[in-house]
Amino acid sequence: MRFIVTAELGRLVTWLRILGFDTVLEKDSAAVVLQSLREDRIILTRDSKMSRFSGTRMIRVSSDFVEKQLEQIIRELDINIDRRSLFSRCVLCNEILESVEKISVKGSVPEYVFDTQDSFMKCLKCDKVYWRGTHWMLVNQFLDNLVGLPAERAHRPDGEQPKNSP
Ligand SMILES: [Zn+2]
Repeated sequence: MRFIVTAELGRLVTWLRILGFDTVLEKDSAAVVLQSLREDRIILTRDSKMSRFSGTRMIRVSSDFVEKQLEQIIRELDINIDRRSLFSRCVLCNEILESVEKISVKGSVPEYVFDTQDSFMKCLKCDKVYWRGTHWMLVNQFLDNLVGLPAERAHRPDGEQPKNSP
């Protein structure tokens, strides 16, 4: 599932990329329509003028708040969020991230991060380096609070029961 988002929904673009969806932002409304048809992208917009483009796959986003916007999209498209896809894509340029050797990011991440993290991902387009740090936890918390999403513990493999406290 791929998206094209109109200019006023910039924060939504970031979130959809964090969730792993191929998402582009486009300012010009005619270009939005063309690209959505050419690349089979669902249009997400709050721009009332976009409603004249019938025959496109479009969701008119109703809320000002990104949490509500995500909830609406997840509900209307019946999306199953796969938390393993979190941070698989660069939030800045939409590129798929590549796993890189720890040693290769020495000097490009803060020292305490280098010392405490073992796996790193990198955008080969803009060179931004990603790791499972505070952001990753915050995103999971954010998702836990979205209506209708299963909490992360629901994704435990079968047979792995939470241990009772002693
Ligand atoms: Zn990038």
